[in-house]
Amino acid sequence: MEAKIYKPGESYDYPLIIKKILATGIIYGQNQEIVYRDKVRYRYHDMYERVHRLANGLTALGVGKGDVVGVLDFDSHRYLECFFAVPMMGAVIHTLNWRLSPAQLAYTINHAEDSVILVNQDFLPLLEVIQGNLKTVKKIILISDDGRKETKARIDGEYEEMLQAAHASYDFADLDENTRASIFYTTGTTGDPKGVHFTHRQLVLHTLAMGVNVGSYETTGRFRSNDVYMPLTPMFHVHAWGVPYLATMLGVKQVYPGRYEPEVLLKLILGEKVTFSHCIPTIIHMLVTNPIAKKLDLSKWKVVIGGAALPKSLAIAARELGIQIYSAYGMSETCPLISGASLKSTMLNLDEEKKLDIFVKTGLPAPLVEVQVVDASGKALPSDGRSTGELVMRAPWLTESYYKDPEKSKDLWRDGWLHSGDVAYIDEQGYVQITDRLKDVIKTGGEWVSSIDLENLVSMHPAVSEAAVIGVPDSKWGERPLVVLTLRTEFKGKVTGDDMKEYVKKMSEQGKLPKYGIPDRYEFVDAIPRTSVGKINKVELRKLYAE
Ligand code: AMP
Repeated sequence: MEAKIYKPGESYDYPLIIKKILATGIIYGQNQEIVYRDKVRYRYHDMYERVHRLANGLTALGVGKGDVVGVLDFDSHRYLECFFAVPMMGAVIHTLNWRLSPAQLAYTINHAEDSVILVNQDFLPLLEVIQGNLKTVKKIILISDDGRKETKARIDGEYEEMLQAAHASYDFADLDENTRASIFYTTGTTGDPKGVHFTHRQLVLHTLAMGVNVGSYETTGRFRSNDVYMPLTPMFHVHAWGVPYLATMLGVKQVYPGRYEPEVLLKLILGEKVTFSHCIPTIIHMLVTNPIAKKLDLSKWKVVIGGAALPKSLAIAARELGIQIYSAYGMSETCPLISGASLKSTMLNLDEEKKLDIFVKTGLPAPLVEVQVVDASGKALPSDGRSTGELVMRAPWLTESYYKDPEKSKDLWRDGWLHSGDVAYIDEQGYVQITDRLKDVIKTGGEWVSSIDLENLVSMHPAVSEAAVIGVPDSKWGERPLVVLTLRTEFKGKVTGDDMKEYVKKMSEQGKLPKYGIPDRYEFVDAIPRTSVGKINKVELRKLYAE
């Protein structure tokens, strides 16, 4: 491509584009390692070359500016290469959620109009099911750790062969920073998945703000250039919180675990000396309840928890294993970073217990993020730690709209604020506390009960492993809270609903819960149903227990 000729005195109009993140990262990380399970170990300069090869390979398949490339893979070094190569060539990376139903997955591919998809071999059975319904896909590339696979699906090439055949250098242009870089889909309670999309400028600013948020503020586990990073939030979900971009910019060692298997994860954490991860509470719960974890030294591991509230009981269980844990908040619509639970410099002398109370909060807004709590008419409520309403926000990296869906976008953006659908209050210090999703909050006898507060309280009982609280219809009170819970193995069959109610009553007498919030029903289950991103599925629970 023709390089621009500058007139004397004409400055460079620096675009905020993903290429610039990689350019910085390659200087810091040049000889640093990137690891994929026990299968691949290479250096940043190898990754850099493969990003160029991938761009050439995709160009040969016909991918050009504005084309959408779908990736259906577990967390891998190849996924990281796609995070860079696809947007850097002016195309859009569509991170495909393999936890969706086949019909929903096909819907997202058709809706985003993917022209090429890259598919991990483990998803070939899924591809065989949906291939006939894909309307825009012209080429399919297989991702495999050990070569081509037998399949009934039509495959047009294999990732490693494509890279080998491609030229090692690609001239990435200076794109307009407002070029779309990524798209992915979030599932609501009803209707089709909704597409959210982000530009280069948004991802660059998000990366910088994420860097400040997890690296500069005082908290329990900061992310620095000497850390070893391993994502535990799938890369299809909100760019794995954007941390792969930050990790690359910092040039840190990166470890990609492939499919999440507790034993493999623990082995990688110890073997590769992983020090920084992020995940939803479900994953950390799965690890801290794994008997092997108790025998290991996890004291170097810092974990940010988001995607759902961090129960204090889980934070304590993780801390007992030495894990440094704190909470952050965001949504698919927000790229995702909105807030993180850090301490202010005036709070450093607090005792450990008080600090933990802060580390489990929703947190302080990240740099450049503005938040407000508003009432039903959109009026801002005071930050007094009491006034509760819908959390709304502004930041440079929030999705501009739901993709090709003006109607739903009108609901998302109102009065110039992105409406989160989360119920929250903000205290005098500026800390945000989410108390519920708007649709999960329980209204009983005219009073509001926070399902998150109740879950927190119930899961502090020593016998409880996990708890989920929903509102169920009640002819007298409108709704009543119902607790669905799993017990720790050693307590199974030894604790009854009456025991639980007695415990919650006692907590209520100690002022931890208003009397009207004490649930009457406690349902013991072996496992709590999950959503497509692994969170507690309250829609499903309501269906199960509404009658
Ligand atoms: P998703 O778009 O799937 O990432 O879900 C975003 C939603 O997860 C938010 O709107 C919140 O309801 C919830 N969420 C994320 N982080 C937190 C947190 N730290 N505390 C409470 N809820 C959270």
